[in-house]
This record gives sequence, C-alpha cells and structure tokens, in this order.
Amino acid sequence: MKVLLTGGSGLIAAHCLDYLLQHGHDVVVTVRSHEKGKKMLSSHPDHAKSRVSYVIVEDIAKEDAFKDAVKSDLPFEAVLHTASPFHFHPTDFKKDLIEPAIIGTTGILKAIKASAPTVKIVVITSSFAAMVNALNPPKIYDETCWNPVRFEQAQESANIAYRVGKTYAEKAAWEFVENERPNFQVATILPTLVLGPTVHYLNSLDSLNTSNERLRDMILGKMKDGLAPTGYFLWADVRDVALAHVKAMEIPAAAGKRFFCAAGYVDNTAIADAIKEGYPQLATKLPNNYESDLRRDIYGFDNSQTRNILGIEYRPLKQCIIDTVKSLQEVGA
Ligand code: NDP
Repeated sequence: MKVLLTGGSGLIAAHCLDYLLQHGHDVVVTVRSHEKGKKMLSSHPDHAKSRVSYVIVEDIAKEDAFKDAVKSDLPFEAVLHTASPFHFHPTDFKKDLIEPAIIGTTGILKAIKASAPTVKIVVITSSFAAMVNALNPPKIYDETCWNPVRFEQAQESANIAYRVGKTYAEKAAWEFVENERPNFQVATILPTLVLGPTVHYLNSLDSLNTSNERLRDMILGKMKDGLAPTGYFLWADVRDVALAHVKAMEIPAAAGKRFFCAAGYVDNTAIADAIKEGYPQLATKLPNNYESDLRRDIYGFDNSQTRNILGIEYRPLKQCIIDTVKSLQEVGA
C-alpha cells in the first residue's frame, strides 16, 4: 500500500516506519523540517527515494496543515496519524498540547476527505490517556473505557491538559466518521506507557521521547537516591505498539475499532530490577533497596482485542528494558 505516516520524527512513528517497510509498503513521512526528513532518509539508505520519502508539515495545529501532504502522484491508500505532542512542559496548555492533538486529528481527516479519495483506512494514535479514569477506575480497562475528563479541567495541570487533548481528539475522530460518512474507515490505537529502543537518528540523550526518559535517568544515576514515583502502571513495548498500528491498517476486521495496547503491569522497581539483571555493571547507578509503588488491586486490563484481531504477542518487560538500555548506550548513556 502507499501510506502517509505523520509525526515521522517520533519514537512510535519511527518503529511504524520500520514495520511498514518490512511489510512491503511505500511510505511518505511527515516531518517538521528538512533536517529531520534528511536524517530519516539517511537512516534508510536501502529504501530512500524509492520506497520512503518525506513531506514537511510544520504545525499540525494549523487548520489546513495537511492540505498538500495528503496528495501524492501515486495516491495514498492508508494513513497512520501518530503526530501529537507528548510532553509535560508546555508554556501554554491549549496551544502546546490541546490544539495540536485535536486540530491535528480533525485537520487530517478533513484533508483526506477533501483531497485523498483513495484512502480507505486511517489509523490514529490515541492513548490510555483517553481511557483512564483516575477518580473512579473501572475493574477492567478495555476498549469500552473513556476518560470522563472535561475540557474545563484542562488548566489544572499539564498532565490533565494532555489527557483532555487526547480524549477530545479521539472523540472528534469518531464523530467525524459518524457525521461526515467519509470514504474511509478509522481505527484507533490506545497505548499505555510506551517503552522501547530509541531510534539513533532521532535522539540524543537530551532529546528523548518522554516515555523513555525514566530509563535514561535510571542508568545515568539520577535516581540513585531513590526511584521516582512510577506514575503509570501499565506499559507496552514500542515495537508491539508500532506493529499494532500497521496491522490495524492491513487487517480489514480492524476498521472501526479501538485497540488498547498493554503488555502488563510495570513500576519503576521492576524496571530497575530488569536493568540490574541485564546490566549488572549498572547496579551502582541505582539504589540498593527500593519499595514498589505498584497497586495491581486498583484495576485490571484486557488486551485481548489486540491479540485476537491484530495478532500482537507482547514482548516481556525484561527484553524491552535490555534492548532499550542498549539503544541508550549507543546514543551515549
Ligand atoms: P514523540 O514525542 O517521540 O513523537 C511525537 C511526534 O509528533 C513527533 O514527530 C513530533 O514532531 C510530532 N509533533 C508534535 N507536535 C507537533 C506539531 N504541533 N506539529 C507537527 N508535529 C508535531 O512521542 P511518541 O512517539 O511517544 O508519541 C506518538 C504518539 O503516541 C502521540 O500521539 C502520543 O500522544 C501517543 N502516545 C504515546 C505514548 C508514550 O508513552 N510514548 C503513550 C500513549 C500514546 P517533533 O519531533 O518535530 O516535535
């Protein structure tokens, strides 16, 4: 298939690109600068020019950001929309977190409807943030769950603003399908905390994607005096999350569905244990003793839809941590 992949400089997108190419698809990646596009191309020399290229989309929060990007000489058949800000240091919650999430999603759907009639499936990266119910957690998290967060709560914290953006963005996508009856179908991927190998052409130790920062901090000794609070207690490997995107695009039965990607429970003590086991020489960077803050009794999770429909077999935490630490060492940790 000919595929448009947004947010090509992101961690999840970089792994999506690898699977798309492995599965024989031709890909146009959106990036915000030529510098990022050229780095991406130079890291795929076997495919550059023939099967992978890039197009600039500077700011997905602009209403017509995707107007030209969705057009291609060989028309697109599928779109993977991963681009969205994922960080907790905005200067303006609305501008930096919420608008790119929501307008980025509605903007690309409008552009596809208007100018890319050959697109049949759009896979959108949503998030556990669009499912989580912090005050009244369900017994089991699954694809029926929606975050009850309201727009008015967005000013409370960056974390809540992020959740507002992701929740309203995914809702807007389903409403678009319902109201506009486009020629294409939508599937959404809802990952929990994503850990996994960083991509060398994207990252330096100072510019890691948000979810891998905790591993970097651990192996650099920044948590030597005590592990930071875990924050999220479910996780998935970025390679499994990326494969879920590509499978959701390829498998007709995935259209119209949400897919909750969660491999299992995690806390910072489990990550620290896996680091010590895989890299005994790094034990000195970590505290000798620590106590788990994981509370499995709060909620369960059901990832059967990703396994049954998409065929995802989740990697174990230890393998993920070993591979991620190796990738961090390769960028200087
Ligand atoms: P990254 O920060 O690595 O990637 C985010 C991507 O979005 C980057 O390519 C970034 O471009 C792009 N982007 C952000 N804001 C804009 C904007 N205004 N205009 C154009 N492009 C923009 O994060 P991940 O790969 O981890 O996240 C990708 C998706 O996955 C996001 O939708 C995120 O919400 C979701 N997600 C991530 C989880 C995680 O734990 N990592 C968990 C659940 C969901 P640039 O690099 O140039 O800024």
